[in-house]
Amino acid sequence: MKAILKTHNARPHYYLSHERVFNFERCPRRYYYSYVLFAPPDFTPYYLYLGKIIHKILAYIECTGEPFKPFLLDLLFQFEFQEEDEIKKVYDLSLSLISNWRRWRSERDEEEIKGLERPFQILTNNGTLFKGRIDRVSYQPENQLWVISDYKTGSSKIPRKDIANNLQLNLYAFALSNQEPNIANLRVELIYLRDNDVRGADIHLPNLAEVEARIESEKEEIIKGTEYPPRSGWYCKICRFKTRCSLNETPDKDSIFSLKSLAEDDSSDKRAAAAFALGNSRMKLVTWALVHALRTDESNKVRREAARALGKLADEWTLSFLVKTMAYEPLTEEGLLALELIADRCSHRRRSVRTIKLRQEFSATGNESNIKELDHEPED
Ligand code: SF4
Repeated sequence: MKAILKTHNARPHYYLSHERVFNFERCPRRYYYSYVLFAPPDFTPYYLYLGKIIHKILAYIECTGEPFKPFLLDLLFQFEFQEEDEIKKVYDLSLSLISNWRRWRSERDEEEIKGLERPFQILTNNGTLFKGRIDRVSYQPENQLWVISDYKTGSSKIPRKDIANNLQLNLYAFALSNQEPNIANLRVELIYLRDNDVRGADIHLPNLAEVEARIESEKEEIIKGTEYPPRSGWYCKICRFKTRCSLNETPDKDSIFSLKSLAEDDSSDKRAAAAFALGNSRMKLVTWALVHALRTDESNKVRREAARALGKLADEWTLSFLVKTMAYEPLTEEGLLALELIADRCSHRRRSVRTIKLRQEFSATGNESNIKELDHEPED
C-alpha cells in the first residue's frame, strides 16, 4: 500500500504529537490541564530535566565529538530544580547514562548518521498535522538497513512483543519513510540507557499506512472531547497536576468550548472570538489559557483579545507572573496592553509596567539610565 502521509510546510494552529496523544490516552484531565488550560504544573520532577539534558548531550557528543562536561554543567544550571541535591543526582545519573551510551555507540561505528533530533511534520489526507522529532536516524550500508533509535532515560519499559506495534515508533517510521521514499528495510529500536537494554523490531513498510487511521481516530477523540474526565492510575502519584486535580473542580461547559477553540481552532477569527468570550468566563482558571495565547499566538488579533480579556479577569498574581516572564521576552503591543489593563485593576503595581517599558526602551536604544533611576523610585 502506498504511503499516504505527506510532508507539510504550513503551520496550522492545531497539531498532534506523540506526547499529546500519550497524555490524552493516559488521562484526559491531565491533557486538559496541559494543552487546553495551559495551567502551570505543581512541580517539575528531576527526571524530566534528566531526559531533556541527556537528549541534548548525546546529540552534542555525536555531532561535535568534543568533551561534554562543560556543556552538561551549562545545561544543568538552565533548569530550576526543586531540591538542591537533585542537581547532583542528575549530574551523576547523566554521567552513568552517557557512559552506557558510549558502550552502545561503540558497536555502531559502521553506521552512517542520517539525522539527530530529526524533526518531522506529517499531514494526513484528512488534514491532521502531526509533529515530532526522532532522536537518531542511521543507515547500515552492509545490510541496506535504516534504523530509528529512540533513547529512554527512565526505568519503565515497553515489553519486547509490543515494540513492532508501538504507536510512537510506527509514527516515526511512517514519517521517515515519507521523507526517504527509497527505504527498503527499516528497524526501530528503544535504547534503555539505564542498563543498555536495546529492544527493537523490523517494521514492514506496507503496513505503515495503518498509522494514519490511528492518528485520525486519536484526533477524533481529542477534538470531540469536552468532559476531560480524570482517569486515575499508578501514575497519579507522579502527576504534575495532582494538587489541582485533588480540588476536583468541574470545568464549566461554556468555558470549555471557548478554551478548546482558543487552543485548537485554525481560524484566527474564531480564536479571537473565543478569547473575547473567555473574558466573561466565571472560571478564574481561564486566565492561564489567555496568558498562553497572549504570549504565543501568531495572530495579533487573538493576542489583542486575550489582552482585553485579561484586563477584565486577571489579578495581581497574574500581573506579577506576566511581569516576570515578559521582562525578558520581546514585548508585543498586546503584551503591553495587557500589563496596562491589569495594572489599572491593581493600581499599586503600575511601577512594574513602567519597568517593562523601560527595559524595552533599553533594548532598542542601549540607554540604561532610566532603569537605574527607577531603582531609586519609591513603590506606588
Ligand atoms: S492526578 Fe491522576 S487523575 Fe488527576 S490529572 Fe493527574 S493523572 Fe489525571
